[in-house]
Amino acid sequence: DRQKKIRNFCIIAHIDHGKSTLADRLIEKTGTLTQREMEEQVLDTMELEKERGITIKAQAVRLIHNDGENEYILNLIDTPGHVDFNYEVSRSLAACEGAILVVDATQGIQAQTLANCYLALEHNLEIVPVINKIDLPSARPDEIKKEIEDVIGLDCSDAPLISAKVGIGIDEVLKAIVEKIPCPTGDEEAPLRALIFDSFYDPYKGVVCYIRVKEGTIKKGTKIKLMASGKEYEVTEVGIFRPSLMEVEQLQAGDVGYVTASIKNVRDARVGDTITEALRPASEPLPGYRPAIPMVYSGIYPADSSDYNDLKDALEKLQLNDAALTFEPETSVALGFGFRCGFLGLLHMEIIQERLEREYNLNIVTTAPSVIYKIIKTNGEVIELTNPTNMPPVTEISYMEEPIVNASIICPSEYVGAVMELCQEKRGIFKNMEYLEATRVMLHYEIPLNEIIYDFFDALKSRTKGYASLDYELAGYKKSELVKLDILLNGDPVDALSQIVPKEKAYQKGRAIAEKLKEIIPRQLFEIPIQAAIGSKVIARETVKALRKDVLAKCYGGDITRKKKLLEKQKEGKKRMKQIGTVEVPQEAFMAVLKVE
Ligand code: GDP
Ligand code: MG
Repeated sequence: DRQKKIRNFCIIAHIDHGKSTLADRLIEKTGTLTQREMEEQVLDTMELEKERGITIKAQAVRLIHNDGENEYILNLIDTPGHVDFNYEVSRSLAACEGAILVVDATQGIQAQTLANCYLALEHNLEIVPVINKIDLPSARPDEIKKEIEDVIGLDCSDAPLISAKVGIGIDEVLKAIVEKIPCPTGDEEAPLRALIFDSFYDPYKGVVCYIRVKEGTIKKGTKIKLMASGKEYEVTEVGIFRPSLMEVEQLQAGDVGYVTASIKNVRDARVGDTITEALRPASEPLPGYRPAIPMVYSGIYPADSSDYNDLKDALEKLQLNDAALTFEPETSVALGFGFRCGFLGLLHMEIIQERLEREYNLNIVTTAPSVIYKIIKTNGEVIELTNPTNMPPVTEISYMEEPIVNASIICPSEYVGAVMELCQEKRGIFKNMEYLEATRVMLHYEIPLNEIIYDFFDALKSRTKGYASLDYELAGYKKSELVKLDILLNGDPVDALSQIVPKEKAYQKGRAIAEKLKEIIPRQLFEIPIQAAIGSKVIARETVKALRKDVLAKCYGGDITRKKKLLEKQKEGKKRMKQIGTVEVPQEAFMAVLKVE
């Protein structure tokens, strides 16, 4: 029957192992788009995604595959490739019956290979291993097959050996999808249950929900209810992805497609929510829903305070499409009126920052990101601190807790020493170590989230010549000795530069920040003392010497164009400055305070 000809699957892989390239080949091979229509890497649509080479939003495409006897509908659901978006990944997996596991034949299993595999196994997906990049001279397909069998326990005896780039073995992948991945089996007559695995806001249609129908049928006119939000709507359109939206009569159990229902905001139709019929509701929602929880907070301020309303509008517009972004107004003595924004992680934060600058042309100042600390006060009250400035006086604090992650790091065994040293510096607690192959190990650590979010990954890469891979998940909160480190410029504390730091690192950090700021803050007409302080105790001091710096003095008279260029350059430099009290501070200072050791 109908569902026997459907396969719903996703592709999982460590970053750069060839997931998007394989998706493109499958789209091409099944003639979903002609070569001419094929834009490079169709599934990664956002401009930013292309530039960064990562997939941020899950998306879907319906492929029609004819194997000579039967015609199959293959729904390919793309998954985001970064830990910040792990929840979205889990919802995409929940929409599928199977997953193609792409492993780079030159690299073997990496941290996200395993993490994604475990996620897929948790959702009972059939995993089809595929060895990619066999065109490369350094490919070791047989060793990698053995590694997958030993470490993950998947049978690789007939795993396709492919080159997604060159186009070798794509037919075998299609064959494996049809033969190995089970077809959906939901009851078409049962009350409707459809999982929302992604959504975006369209100014004409309203929110477009990407759905997987698990049971029942949905069509235009169906009165629906979102089980988590409790809101009710009437369906205005259902359709499929070819890969652009194409309206169809109805979607039934087993189908992947989209629904629109004049929903005004993605927050009303969140990823993971279950759509049911309002008149004949299912008794239970589909499992696994949770609202997106921000893990990292930072202040975003307009560089020019007259842009405040534009910034507010832009954040509101971005939020239409991004249920995970939160913001509320806040005021800073140093920066004026702005917003405290919550993000899933640092990548999410950087994406929002870039979009504000590029798509909305805003000049913004972002303060140092902070994780959420728990403060247990002496009076028993518990505060969740998202802005260091709001830390209560030490006398009112009984103790503090910080978020901890379970991190797994995979690297060649020769780098174990370097990795352990790094983890130790980052206050990591060693858990255990396993050998994947004779020369490759996986290390498990507990590390404070605060140490991971800034530059851990970069440090890990540079100390292992790029060979290490990292994955982590939030493990909970732990008691920790923390203090608030303040920075004073010209005697005034700059609230936007305050941060919470581990007590044991406070002195070292204070000194390093003062030194760094001395480098970054340009000389001005007067001397600027820079101080780092804990409470009223100054722990470091530097001075930016006064200098009358007239750039035009460099031009000996005549050359007008050179003068103009210098003036323009100076103006551009100014744009990224923020006047704080009497001192001009470059925007990079707010991030630089984080990057010091
Ligand atoms: P993703 O991060 O898993 O989506 O990986 P991409 O599909 O973006 O591929 C990462 C890089 O590997 C790109 O530069 C691809 O061109 C390259 N690549 C993908 N598949 C192959 C392959 O089969 N052979 C070779 N030599 N390169 C490949
Ligand atoms: Mg990709």
